[in-house]
Amino acid sequence: MILIVDDRPENIFALKSILELHSFPVDTALSGEEALRKSLKNHYSLIILDVQMPGMDGFEVADFLAGNKNTMDIPLIFLSAVNTEKKFITKGYSSGAIDYITKPIDQDILLLKVKTFHRLYEQNRELTLAKQQLQSEIEVRKKAQQQAQEKANELNSILASIPQVAFTATADGNIDFVNEHWYNYSSSVDTFPEVHSDDPCIIAEWRKILQSKQPKQLEIRMAKLQSKEYKYHLLSVVPVIENGMIVKWVGTFTDIEEQKQALKTKDDFLSMASHELKTPLTSIKGYVQLLESMQHDESTTTFLKRTITQVHKLEGLINDLLDISKIDNGELKFELAPVDFEKLLLSTLEMLRHIHPEIKIIHKGNAAATIMANDIRLEQVIINFISNAIKYSPQSKYIEVTTELTPANHLYFAVKDWGIGISPENQKNIFSKFYRVSEAATCAQGLGIGLYICAEILKRHGADFGVISEPGDGALFYFNVPAINKV
Ligand code: ADP
Repeated sequence: MILIVDDRPENIFALKSILELHSFPVDTALSGEEALRKSLKNHYSLIILDVQMPGMDGFEVADFLAGNKNTMDIPLIFLSAVNTEKKFITKGYSSGAIDYITKPIDQDILLLKVKTFHRLYEQNRELTLAKQQLQSEIEVRKKAQQQAQEKANELNSILASIPQVAFTATADGNIDFVNEHWYNYSSSVDTFPEVHSDDPCIIAEWRKILQSKQPKQLEIRMAKLQSKEYKYHLLSVVPVIENGMIVKWVGTFTDIEEQKQALKTKDDFLSMASHELKTPLTSIKGYVQLLESMQHDESTTTFLKRTITQVHKLEGLINDLLDISKIDNGELKFELAPVDFEKLLLSTLEMLRHIHPEIKIIHKGNAAATIMANDIRLEQVIINFISNAIKYSPQSKYIEVTTELTPANHLYFAVKDWGIGISPENQKNIFSKFYRVSEAATCAQGLGIGLYICAEILKRHGADFGVISEPGDGALFYFNVPAINKV
């Protein structure tokens, strides 16, 4: 907006009309004092100021405007009918004005000047605004940088205080901080510690981690510099995410040699104990079978039958323990050969129905497929799934087995029960070694290794498998194994 200051209303009227005709918004003041009041309250892009006014004259107004930081940048044009002498014109400029026009006013010149000043003022204002914005952006960035630095320092001092070897890396994987333990294993910041030649290459693994953008844990063996004594360490790497973007990586190497040794001792013990138990058990089984073939009275026969049942249970447990140590030692190996699945399933179901005459085991669907399998091991899985279904359904006497050939030529096998079911959290773990659901313990005994062995067997058959269950509403255990031809 442009402010016209003149003590004579007719002059104001004339000027206002010209400017408004050219679409300039105009405000007016009839004295220097009013002009000052208004210029402190409103924003003007230009003030056209009559020099000669009663009270405060134009030069005094200009002096005041030049001295105030809110008005000092407003361009001024002095208008005067009399002060055409050079000394007055000079006074006009020195008091902060920008131009000077004498009366009678040449309209074209006035408009030209007004347009130029107006544009200049707008440009100036935009520049000032941009500068202010830039400055506040710089401030924000400085603050963010400072905060990031403070966070990094905090993280580094935490990493410096922990007993593990620790490091941080930039988002693209360059190591930018290591704690002092690092130097026990590596001579420089940017070189990862050397790992045992049988373990995965750490640089290749690091690249994979960066690509996956996911946290990762990895067991590797590494030795201190100048030492050949390799010890197991757990490398654990996590991304630090801010606003959905990875800004840093934090990694630690934790010495897990003791845990590894303890686990090995336990595995060795289990393996040795189950082998040692197997030999006398085989003799017991032989003698019991011998006794069974002899003539006995009714009560001895009953006790013998119970003994045989218990011997079978014990044999199952020992076999499971032996399987576990075979898996641990990488010795669970078996050949796959074409197997008529339907035949295998029907004979297994018959055997299970014989052992559990009180349970109704129903088979639905088509099982006619040949699959590449190890019949003994696959039978072990079927028995385990169905035995569990019976074990964990104390209130139900009904088990449903479904088989199907899928369009992708896979054989689908599922066992459904109406027992205690499994919560989603436990479902994630039940195929892990020694995992038992605590609620299940009240229902049946077990070691928590059956499903682990099943999982290992199924993996070696190239099968996918799982469980679908709602707590309290039973469970469905299934596997899908490739069929080689439809029978
Ligand atoms: P075990 O039965 O000897 O404990 P498994 O490895 O066969 O060991 O099973 C692991 C756990 O999974 C069981 O302890 C039980 O909690 C749960 N589970 C397995 N099958 C079922 C089922 N059909 N219904 C409910 N829970 C089950």
